Amino acid sequence: MASKYRQRDESLYTEEPIDEKYSNDPHILSWWTDTHDLILITRIKRYRWLWHKGVADRGVSDDILDITPEATITHWRDIDPLCRGRTIKKVLTDFARSRARDAGLLSHLRPAEWKTCKLCGEPFIEDSLPLPLIRRIGINQIVFCGPCLTDIFFNDVSVRGTQDIAHDDALSYMRELASILGYVPPRDFGTTPEDTASLTTEQQLAIFEVLQRRPSIQRVRELFGSWFQALVDAGVLEDGTQQMVLGTKCLAKDGHVCLSLGEKTIDDLLSSLGITHNKEVLYPEGNYRADFVARDLFIEYLGLAGNPDYDAKTKLKQRVCKKHGIKLLLIYPKDLIARDKLVDKMIDALIDGGEAYEPTQARTRAHGQLSLFDGLERDSDSSTDGTTDDNVSHALDYDVNGQLYLFPDAPISRQLLLFPPRW
Ligand SMILES: [Zn+2]
Repeated sequence: MASKYRQRDESLYTEEPIDEKYSNDPHILSWWTDTHDLILITRIKRYRWLWHKGVADRGVSDDILDITPEATITHWRDIDPLCRGRTIKKVLTDFARSRARDAGLLSHLRPAEWKTCKLCGEPFIEDSLPLPLIRRIGINQIVFCGPCLTDIFFNDVSVRGTQDIAHDDALSYMRELASILGYVPPRDFGTTPEDTASLTTEQQLAIFEVLQRRPSIQRVRELFGSWFQALVDAGVLEDGTQQMVLGTKCLAKDGHVCLSLGEKTIDDLLSSLGITHNKEVLYPEGNYRADFVARDLFIEYLGLAGNPDYDAKTKLKQRVCKKHGIKLLLIYPKDLIARDKLVDKMIDALIDGGEAYEPTQARTRAHGQLSLFDGLERDSDSSTDGTTDDNVSHALDYDVNGQLYLFPDAPISRQLLLFPPRW
């Protein structure tokens, strides 16, 4: 099929005309304020031509509803004929579009520009990239063309990985990936947009060059037995018997000194979840220190689990915790390669610890910079059963609310953005 993923000069985001009846709807204008205009301007600046769509799981109507008293909305919905037979989100989205046009707010829109692809050197127009590709690099740093990104993320070889990579090349792939990322690469790295959208252009360029040599899952299994073992063999992850090559001492994003890449991965994860934490906190007895304390939860990263001396010390710490009624969470190197599960584990432990930690609050607080839990968008690109252009273009469906669901058939699941995308 002549794919929109394989071209560089066609703009994919043509605007549908807006029905004139929305432009001057008195029922909305009666409660519309300067702050509402400001919301539109902010989105126009940040999301450019996608500003009224559901970006990062939120459409413009969500932002409008957020700052408008519920009673105002209820009253408006009851009296405005435009709301009959249509969802208020759809009405608000259409109103916002006409408002932006009529009030001159679109002057803040930085239109799509011609760029030169940093990978292939070909000229392309920014909005020739389908949304799943834009989501992987961020709308404000589009410097790679659609065909190049498609090759990296969506063609058969890149989705499945290369089957014939040599042992040593696979090891350097692991090390390079870890050192560019600055955290332990999870098993499924590169399959969700957030993996790369949070990176700078320079990091993206480096990562894309590395991803072009990605070994397939089968190949990793053949060579090492598992992704985890591959990371251990490459010296990225420690275990009880092997020494680390990488990151023996490194700084977490919040400035905490970490003694391994694994520790740094946990530290950065806590930060990205908005969980305040301290490092190297003393236990109430025994002169032991905990790797992390987050609220009332002690967290130990057991990098050397399997080593008898180390395991004995862990047992002692567990005993101290039991005696003093301290909640203790043990994290193993293996936990680091499945981030979704690790986050669940952390949040469950925090909630059990007494003080409730509400992910929804974190999300609200972080809104605009990062959204922690995308309930509706589940990336299905990671499916191994032939993700091709067909699946991807199917994923670009709009629903009646004007929201854009990338993967309408995907199961609803809590999705984590570990690192804020640069939208
Ligand atoms: Zn290119």
